Amino acid sequence: MIGGFLSCTAPPKKTAQINKATFGNTQDGAAVDQYTLINQSGMEVKILTYGGIITNLFIPDATGKKTDVVLGFDELKLYESSSPYFGALIGRYGNRIAGGKFNLEGEEYTLVQNNGTNHLHGGTRGFDKVIWEASAHIENEEAFLELRYLSQDQEEGYPGNLAVEVTYVLTQNNSLEVRYKAQTDKTTVLNLTQHTYFNLSGDEDILNHELKLNASSYLPVDETLIPLGTLAEVANTPFDFTTLKRIGSDIDEENLQLKQGLGYDHCWVLNNQNTGVRTAAVLKHPRSGIQMEVLTDLPGIQFYSGNFLDGTLPRKGTDSFYAYRSGLCLETQFFPNAPNEPSFPSPVLKPGEVFQSTTVFQF
Ligand code: BGC
Repeated sequence: MIGGFLSCTAPPKKTAQINKATFGNTQDGAAVDQYTLINQSGMEVKILTYGGIITNLFIPDATGKKTDVVLGFDELKLYESSSPYFGALIGRYGNRIAGGKFNLEGEEYTLVQNNGTNHLHGGTRGFDKVIWEASAHIENEEAFLELRYLSQDQEEGYPGNLAVEVTYVLTQNNSLEVRYKAQTDKTTVLNLTQHTYFNLSGDEDILNHELKLNASSYLPVDETLIPLGTLAEVANTPFDFTTLKRIGSDIDEENLQLKQGLGYDHCWVLNNQNTGVRTAAVLKHPRSGIQMEVLTDLPGIQFYSGNFLDGTLPRKGTDSFYAYRSGLCLETQFFPNAPNEPSFPSPVLKPGEVFQSTTVFQF
């Protein structure tokens, strides 16, 4: 235990706790640890040094029962071989880059094409598949886990050595903050996000969840899920989540965009750009009574309704499998394919600049 022994200076009851345990070894023999951050309000989160993966997130439901609200595996080898990015940190560029190519300062860069002809979530060995250097501490009774990774120049095709720091903070008021920081030695593109699959019900699929997105437009996509480059109003479409709406209510409507995404798999353009951290989404499950708010300073949020979950991935702690649409992602981010769309907010990071961004999952 890392936290408890600070109790000589702080009353033990109000102090968060941090535990560290071995989780396993990767296929090539590297040791992976799992940190557990616990607050005094009943929330607990478990995070791996592999991919910065959130494996478990426990929250008390309306009856006080601890519910694990995230999808994950029991074994490291499944995270290595079969994970659809469960719980992971994503980089260097989250979401898709068309054709795996972009131009920057007059040079063309070619990335791995790992999603048809497109580049997805940083490539075949993105930030979700590397080991992060970890350190943990308690500050003002809150638990901090700092993860660091140095992405080499040309890694997965990206220019520049990029030093990335992601800090998870579990606060006493049941929020998990994700603080991103990065610096480069050569101009590069960057889109860091967190790919946790949430399910606030504990057991059923996500269709009875209610969702609100603070966005009056979204980015329509082509058949390979690359944005067309234009914004579309959500009003009078199945993409309207401006007030709390059951996710299942319009998901099967006859609609070209829903057809292209096989459901929801789109980036919403958040209202109030460049105003700092503000509420992006509210997710609620009426029966469990669990509610989560997502706050961010980033321009967009990808809402992915778990359309590729097909009943083949083993469900942690059980002998069963994750069913179709049994988890959903709310990925705060720059827009997909922004390196090729000059009208989108710029995801470019230059030497001498410090990229900093915060996303909060508040329960
Ligand atoms: C994307 C989906 C993709 C999934 C991979 C999401 O962020 O939007 O299209 O299939 O990640 O699990």
